[in-house]
Formats: sequence, C-alpha cells, structure tokens
Amino acid sequence: MPNRLLLNAAGSDRLRGLVAGSAMTRQVVRRFVAGEENDEVVAVARRLTAAGMHVTIDHLGEDTTTLSQAEGVRDTYRALLASLGRAGLAASAEASVKLSALGGSLPVDGRDHAYRLTRDICAAAAAAGCAVTIDMEDHSTVDTTLAVLHDLRAEFPWVGVALQACLHRTVSDCRDLAYAGSRVRLVKGAYAEPASVAHVRSRQVDDAFEHCLRVLMAGDGYPMVATHDPRLVDSAIRLARDNGRGAGDFEFQMLYGIRANEQARLAGEGHRMRVYLPYGHDWYGYFTRRLAEKPANLLLLARSFAPG
Ligand code: FAD
Repeated sequence: MPNRLLLNAAGSDRLRGLVAGSAMTRQVVRRFVAGEENDEVVAVARRLTAAGMHVTIDHLGEDTTTLSQAEGVRDTYRALLASLGRAGLAASAEASVKLSALGGSLPVDGRDHAYRLTRDICAAAAAAGCAVTIDMEDHSTVDTTLAVLHDLRAEFPWVGVALQACLHRTVSDCRDLAYAGSRVRLVKGAYAEPASVAHVRSRQVDDAFEHCLRVLMAGDGYPMVATHDPRLVDSAIRLARDNGRGAGDFEFQMLYGIRANEQARLAGEGHRMRVYLPYGHDWYGYFTRRLAEKPANLLLLARSFAPG
C-alpha cells in the first residue's frame, strides 16, 4: 500500500526534512510546486503565459486555526495580486482560494471571517485586473461556500467556484450555477467522502462528471473543465462543439507538473488552458498527495534519493 504509507508520511517531519534538504529532491518538488515566495510563482506564471497558457495561483497552507493566521493568508494573496498586476500578467492570471485558509473553519463566526477576508482578496483582484475562484473543500462545506460565493458575486460578479462531480448534489448545483456570467470549475473531487453523499466508484464519478459537463456546456455560464482524464477532455471538446461554444467560451484546467505535454498540446490547438499553480512554504502536504496519486511519481522521488 505505497499510497497509504505515503499519505501517512505527509505528517512526518523527518521525511519532510529529507525531501527539503536535498537539491535533487527539491527539483522533484519544484516539478509540482511553483516555489515558496511570490516572486518565484510570478516567474513561473510569466514563463507559462509566454507559452500561451493561463494560470490560477493557490497559496498552499494547511489548518488555519487562528484569525491572525487567516489575515496573514489574506495579506499574502493581496501582495501576490499586486505583483501579478505589476508584472502585467493580470489578463492571464487569477487566484484560487480556500475558505478554510481564510477563517472558514474557525469555531466562532467562521463564515463571516471567510466572507470578509475573501472580499478583501476580491477587492485586491479587482484593483489588479485579475479574477478569483473559490476551491471546494469537503462536502460539509459546500452550502457555506456557495452562500459566500452568492454574497461575493453581488459585488464581484466574476468570482468563480469549483464543484465536485463526485457529490450527488452537484448536478443540481451545476444547473443552479449555469447562468450567464457564472464561472464554474468542474473537478472530480479530491476528498474521501461517504457513500451517503458521494459516488465512490471511479466509473460512477466519471459518469457524473460527464453529466455535469453536459449541464454546464448547455447552459449560459463559463465552464472550466479541470481534469487530466483524456476521455473527459475529449468529451468536453465534443460537448463544446455540439453546444456552439468557441475557444473563448470555456477552458481547460490542469495542475502544474501533471500532463504538461497535454497542457501544451491543448493550448497549441487554440484551447484556453489554465494551469493551477500551487506555491508557498507549506508545500509538503500538497506534494505528498500528488505523489500518492500516481506510482510513477514515487519513482521520480526514489530516483532523486539515489546517489550520483
Ligand atoms: P484522475 O482519474 O485522477 O486522473 C486521470 C489521469 O490523469 C490519470 O490516469 C493520470 O494519467 C493523470 N494524473 C492524475 N493525477 C496525476 C498525478 N498526480 N501525477 C501524474 N499524473 C496524474 N478537487 C477538489 O476537491 N476541490 C477543488 O477545488 C479542486 N480544484 C482543482 C483544480 C484543478 C485545476 C485541478 C486539475 C484539480 C482540482 N481538484 C480539486 C482535484 C480534483 O478533484 C482531482 O482530485 C484531480 O484533478 C484528479 O482527478 P482527474 O480528473 O485528473 O482524474
């Protein structure tokens, strides 16, 4: 069970030290994580946009447990958005935010803090000319996330949200959000969810993704198709064509470092391709989750430990 072992290792300080301490393993990390500081992620964004891609930037962080931590995350995003504006990247860059990092899971007034701090980020994005998309977290947060989205959109109608095809409720959420101006990122879903609320077999999740995709492509909003799955990428292209959508009427999104050739191919064919760029000091949990998804990634890491 290498995946389970690896996920357990996500909590290991010793392994973290080992990975961070070697130049070779740092190189493997940099394949999936676009650096630790603002200037590093802006440099990667500049390189990708020069190659015809768009980007959405996520500041990595786990477990925001105090309000001052959440305000620190807000300030980091504000600085990032200002840097993107100064670098002339606003038209092709946006920010991805998690409400839990912005106070959403604080025990007192979590929703209010998340709304207020995300609103501050949206105001900074508006000043820089960028957009913001809210990541979706586990199923217990969906109602709150959609309520915050609704309130934010009254002031910033370009704010987008991720919906997870694995959840039973999502086809209905897609119908609700398939209106003009609405930006929806469709993903399979990254959280281990109970069968009472989610499809658990991968075939069911794929079928649900396709169903949601049909709803979004037939609607009036702007679908953001976030998958590396070749079959679903083909479905999106077919459904976009069947619904008369041109290249600017929907986009693909993939994670930095995953299927990079496919990202370049889709961009080269004229599709809008947005790369999700995670960065920050707290990269370790994200990195080990990406390794656990694919055995070949483990080999990359193992080889980087090997002498000379
Ligand atoms: P999979 O069936 O997992 O993968 C399809 C194929 O992609 C694999 O066969 C393999 O070839 C390749 N692949 C997948 N992962 C890897 C890897 N680590 N290394 C190498 N190859 C790989 N989830 C949420 O719950 N909330 C979010 O807000 C959210 N935002 C996301 C934003 C973006 C831009 C993307 C791309 C994903 C996001 N996710 C989010 C994660 C998503 O839910 C899935 O967990 C993840 O994308 C893997 O699913 P997949 O559609 O790529 O299909």
